[in-house]
Amino acid sequence: MSDTDGKKPLGIKGPRSGSVKQSFSHGRTKNVVVETKRKRVVVPKPGAGGGAKDGGNSPATDPSKRPAGISDAELERRMKALAAARANEAEEAKKRAEEEKAREEERERRRREAEEKEREEKERAEAAKRKAEEDERRQREKAEAKAKPAAAAPAADPAAAQAAEARSAKPQARKPERDKPQDDRSKGKGKGGGGRRSGKLTVNQALSGGEGGRQRSVAAMKRKQERMRQKAMGNAEPREKVVRDVQVPDSIVVQELANRMAERSADVVKALMQMGMMVTQNQSIDQDTAEVIVEEFGHNMIRVSDADVEDVIKEVEDKADDLQPRPPVITIMGHVDHGKTSLLDAIRNAKVTAGEAGGITQHIGAYQVTTDSGAVLSFLDTPGHAAFTSMRARGAQVTDIVVLVVAADDAVMPQTVEAINHAKAAGVPMIVAINKCDKPEANPDKVRTDLLQHEVIVEGLSGEVQDVEVSAQTGQGLDELLEAIALQAEILELKANPDRAAQGAVIEAQLDVGRGPVATVLVQNGTLHQGDIFVVGEQWGKVRAMENDRGERVKDAGPSVPVEVLGLNGTPEAGDVLNVVDTEAQAREIAEYRQQAAKDKRAAAGAATTLEQMMQKAKEDKDVAELPIVVKADVQGSAEAIVQAMEKIGNDEVRVRVLHYGVGAITETDIGLAEASGAPVIGFNVRANAPARNSANQKGVEIRYYSVIYDLVDDVKAAASGLLSNEVRERFIGYAEIREVFKVSGVGKVAGCLVTEGIARRSAGVRLLRDDVVIHEGTLKTLKRFKDEVAEVLSGQECGMAFENYEDIREGDVIEIFEREEVERTLD
Ligand code: GDP
Repeated sequence: MSDTDGKKPLGIKGPRSGSVKQSFSHGRTKNVVVETKRKRVVVPKPGAGGGAKDGGNSPATDPSKRPAGISDAELERRMKALAAARANEAEEAKKRAEEEKAREEERERRRREAEEKEREEKERAEAAKRKAEEDERRQREKAEAKAKPAAAAPAADPAAAQAAEARSAKPQARKPERDKPQDDRSKGKGKGGGGRRSGKLTVNQALSGGEGGRQRSVAAMKRKQERMRQKAMGNAEPREKVVRDVQVPDSIVVQELANRMAERSADVVKALMQMGMMVTQNQSIDQDTAEVIVEEFGHNMIRVSDADVEDVIKEVEDKADDLQPRPPVITIMGHVDHGKTSLLDAIRNAKVTAGEAGGITQHIGAYQVTTDSGAVLSFLDTPGHAAFTSMRARGAQVTDIVVLVVAADDAVMPQTVEAINHAKAAGVPMIVAINKCDKPEANPDKVRTDLLQHEVIVEGLSGEVQDVEVSAQTGQGLDELLEAIALQAEILELKANPDRAAQGAVIEAQLDVGRGPVATVLVQNGTLHQGDIFVVGEQWGKVRAMENDRGERVKDAGPSVPVEVLGLNGTPEAGDVLNVVDTEAQAREIAEYRQQAAKDKRAAAGAATTLEQMMQKAKEDKDVAELPIVVKADVQGSAEAIVQAMEKIGNDEVRVRVLHYGVGAITETDIGLAEASGAPVIGFNVRANAPARNSANQKGVEIRYYSVIYDLVDDVKAAASGLLSNEVRERFIGYAEIREVFKVSGVGKVAGCLVTEGIARRSAGVRLLRDDVVIHEGTLKTLKRFKDEVAEVLSGQECGMAFENYEDIREGDVIEIFEREEVERTLD
């Protein structure tokens, strides 16, 4: 038609035919077969051509427009033919439309089928994944349940619930999914619907077979996934809580409470804050507050006290039949210089025969003597009321009888009065020893009358207190004194049961070089045997060996017998009570409990344990200036004596506060404590170990060493009044290490040393240190470099040293070389 003439873009030439020749550029040609469309109906146009182009209708049917030369019959025939052609065409179009629709449906069906298949595929993969996860989870829970039977129930529950949920969710969730495509299909022809359904079910059946009948719907999977996601984010529905029994002592540190509840300490602090208590996790709260918290967290509170944990210590009342008389324990008290030490020595020397154990008694803090009449008396070797009271403060009432020493040439003095008061407070009977009666100026009667003022009425003045005139120097009256004590003991009817587990009190304790912690224990009841397991204060141990006051090994120690005990795990304190228990576990448990309790108590009482607490404390009592100090000493006795002396220093404006005291070398812990409170560390016959020394240097903590208590007291007094000069009394000029010990005839033991620091000077003072504890202080007998006696040896050089009057030197000991300096005293 229109493409037969005019411009032909592809250069189709020639008339309309079955084929056309296409010519392209560069002379290429191509023959193309052109298919001309057959006209289905050919209706000759009555008028001018072109009207039948689209098989037109109205002009053809209109008789007025009928072409000329056509008869009616012809017209009718043509019209029929036209109508038939039209009907045919409509029919064909309909058929085509129907065919098209069917094809479309078929495509749609295939698409859906593919989709479904894909979904099922996905579902199956997902289900397999879930199953794997589920299995893993179940296994884990099983393992957990095995490990924690208590937690098993809550852990198993969610699993069961989940499984049940999955089962119940299955029908609802699956239904719409399966029905939806089916509904769609039924709207169409529903062709082959049953077959597809059965095919789908087969897949599902296969799937469910793989799951062992526990198939899960996608919805259930999704829910589970959501739950897991929430759990991971931490806002899961709370797991079933494990209710714990929480043991709470009288006071407990917040963190420890949180630990015992297995809760986070931050949560506990938060809970406390909500209660209006601003505390940190390192602070302590009391039992009542703890109870509120424990309940808040849904646990069970169990109040505990020493008694609960220490129930294993059998406090059985002894039957009267089991009781046997025991020796009295005597403490000698009195004013300074009235002769307490002399009297103790005199008694010991008078009663310990020279042949016994070389005539030398060992100082273990107590000793026993036998009177002429055969009575056995146990004397505590620590005179003075300081030890007496500090022991009493710890709960050890050891003393049965107090011997009050009053010098006949001096009469009653302040400390005499103090001693009287202490004895009375403890309810312990007294015997007055009027000492120094050998002196011409002695006036025993004055002593007796003086004592009246303090309500001590001696027998001579028709009272009940026995009095004996003695002389520690001459030994006069000593036997009488001992008999008086024995008589007093008889009146007291002191008894104990030797056939039970031992209970005793620590008289003295120290960390002994080589032997470890050593304690002198005075057995109060029962008998202590070698091998016994015991708890003593915050320590525990097993009796490895025992020595009596004569230095003899003993296997048993009965009531009122003092023994030195080896085999402790730590150094107890004087006054600590020793109890024998059945098992090591019990001993350890009680000791640990006591340690914790002591820690809790200290923290609760605000005893300085942390910097904040110290600062807080200091601010609270700002009207009184305090000089805090940390004291370390070689033996417990010295430490306590220093503490007592320190506590006496001070007035209304200033006072000394002992932050901590203990036995042994100065350690890093001591330095830390001192630094925290700006305190100096006092070392009495002990030294700082190397790490502590470094730490002190770094932190600027002052360490002061003393070996004379009066020097220490003077210095602290001066420091407390802000008058202590920065100059030191002693200056260390060097240190030497003993590498070898030789025996040189005529000289004795000589130490082969290496001067490690500073200088060794012949004229200087020397101290022998063993494990940072001062063993000996004195002067040098020789200082040799090779064979020559020299005045000085420098650092890095070797030399030989020997001490004046001292032989106990060992390899590894350290010699401290010091010089004394005169210090200007501004006040005294
Ligand atoms: P303490 O401080 O109570 O232990 O007293 P001491 O035992 O150290 O004695 C103080 C001083 O008094 C020492 O110099 C002793 O020698 C002296 N002393 C002790 N007892 C007697 C005594 O009975 N007669 C004489 N004349 N002097 C004594």
